[in-house]
Amino acid sequence: MIDCDKEYLLLAGENGEPEVFYTIEGEGAFIGQPSVFLRLFGCNLTCSGFISEDSPYGCDSYISWSKKNKVTFNELFKLLDDNNYIERLKQGAIFKYTGGEPMVRQGQLLKFTEAFVDHYKFIPRIDFETNATIQPDEEWVNKWNATFTTSPKLTTNGDPENKTYKPAVLKWHVDHGSGFKFVINVAEDIEEIWRKYVEDPAVGVPLDRIWFMPCCGSRAEHQEKVYAVAEYAKAMNVNFSPRLHLVIWDKALRV
Ligand code: SF4
Repeated sequence: MIDCDKEYLLLAGENGEPEVFYTIEGEGAFIGQPSVFLRLFGCNLTCSGFISEDSPYGCDSYISWSKKNKVTFNELFKLLDDNNYIERLKQGAIFKYTGGEPMVRQGQLLKFTEAFVDHYKFIPRIDFETNATIQPDEEWVNKWNATFTTSPKLTTNGDPENKTYKPAVLKWHVDHGSGFKFVINVAEDIEEIWRKYVEDPAVGVPLDRIWFMPCCGSRAEHQEKVYAVAEYAKAMNVNFSPRLHLVIWDKALRV
């Protein structure tokens, strides 16, 4: 029996307000779909290479590794109830486990999911946002039917390759039909994607599971870069994804 007053998640969020919110998915395969986001604290990467004028921290989820909120499972249930998010999830909204890197503490997240299903008596439609550097537990697929939206980081993200490139984990995602979103910063990114993700037989991501997205931190930057990235996507015969939260709200967090 899980003690929901004692067990907790570490959630990101400013001013003591955990980043749990209802929105539409802004990127990738499920773009436009209603989603309840659960933003976990902490990440095993930094993405300092993404720093730009409108993205001063590089990481577009910087809040995930700068602000930490300890929230017990029961406190989280109350938050989900009070905001009517449970009803949304019952209606089929995606329960988006994101971060930071949610796989950093997947054991506790598995425990939370078990407690959630026990409490509410339904299995939510779970999709992860992950940087694909940590192997997911098979239980996510076998027991909870979770799916995975990966966002592997290229050399331009600024972290060393031995931290960002994990072929065995990537192959696991290929075998489980995960989506692969790539932030395109410079033209050389495409050569790197092909060499390490598409043509490397140890990984072998199919083209129809790839989404190219512009690297940007504001609506203005998005507008500036979107045409070139769309042309790259056309040239390489992969999917293109805008970053809808910037286009609509000009914000990357909590919208
Ligand atoms: S992997 Fe994602 S959460 Fe982690 S530092 Fe990079 S952008 Fe931020």
